[in-house]
Amino acid sequence: MADRVTKVYINGRLVDRAEATVSVFDHGFLYGDGIFEGIRVYGGRVFKLKEHLDRLYQSAKAILLSIPLTPTAMEQAVVDTVRANGLDNAYIRLVVSRGPGDLGLDPLRCSQPTVIIIVEEISLYPQDVYLNGLELASVVVRRPAPDALNPAMKTLNYLNNILAKIEANQRGLVEVLMLNHEGWVVEATADNVFLVKAGELLTPPTYVGILNGITRQVVMVLAEAAGYRVREVNFTLFDVYNADEVFLTGTAAEMVPVARCDGRVIGSGRPGRITKDLMERFRVYAKSEGVSVHGSETIQA
Ligand code: PMP
Repeated sequence: MADRVTKVYINGRLVDRAEATVSVFDHGFLYGDGIFEGIRVYGGRVFKLKEHLDRLYQSAKAILLSIPLTPTAMEQAVVDTVRANGLDNAYIRLVVSRGPGDLGLDPLRCSQPTVIIIVEEISLYPQDVYLNGLELASVVVRRPAPDALNPAMKTLNYLNNILAKIEANQRGLVEVLMLNHEGWVVEATADNVFLVKAGELLTPPTYVGILNGITRQVVMVLAEAAGYRVREVNFTLFDVYNADEVFLTGTAAEMVPVARCDGRVIGSGRPGRITKDLMERFRVYAKSEGVSVHGSETIQA
């Protein structure tokens, strides 16, 4: 944002964007050794901040990274950084890396983790995608098995997703569907996936190897509250092709209808009735929930 002064939080300090730099010896840079979260601000409220921080601290625990702030201090740092940037609608990138070390892998050589909070304006998919639906394709690269590198951890190691994104670029698509090593559909490069079949919502269970998306969880709760049945089940591309409706969920993308996959038209080829109903419910809910950045008021809808 050239005409706006961006303030970036680095290890307890708010610095201008131009001065926001980290060491070339940081193991986040050298090895992807770290974790992150992407969080939204809607109307001056940080959406599902507690849930995102819970996931951040769970990822940290899983990789034995000790975050040098309590969750309460981290919440305050996020709120302060959003306020310092003067944006009421924004995307927050919260990163904790292992910190500067030496050229060896050993995390014991990294004495102090690096904590970074960036607040930027959000760029969603083009409006056309929300109105007419997204075209997806399945890709060759597989999501790692949970016993290799568990996708439940939101780590800085996103090369697997980037390889899938490269396949998307090669086909002129913006998003793709990934399978696991057994051929189950798991998720997109940065979104979870849902099918609608006979009025029921189906989404892959976490054990199959997905990030347990915060948006996924919100949509499941909203759907059940609206009277839809939601089931976590494994499914294949056959089920995707033959679903009545398909949509993706993610913090940046929110809910995105899918119109085609691998050249197969999904349902009517237009965003389906249940997808549109849930998109509307999500929109309303997102405006009503969150930690205010303008006061101490915390609203949990
Ligand atoms: N899967 C992957 C691989 C992701 O990176 C993300 C986050 N962008 C999601 C799913 C969606 O998770 P959330 O709803 O928490 O953003």
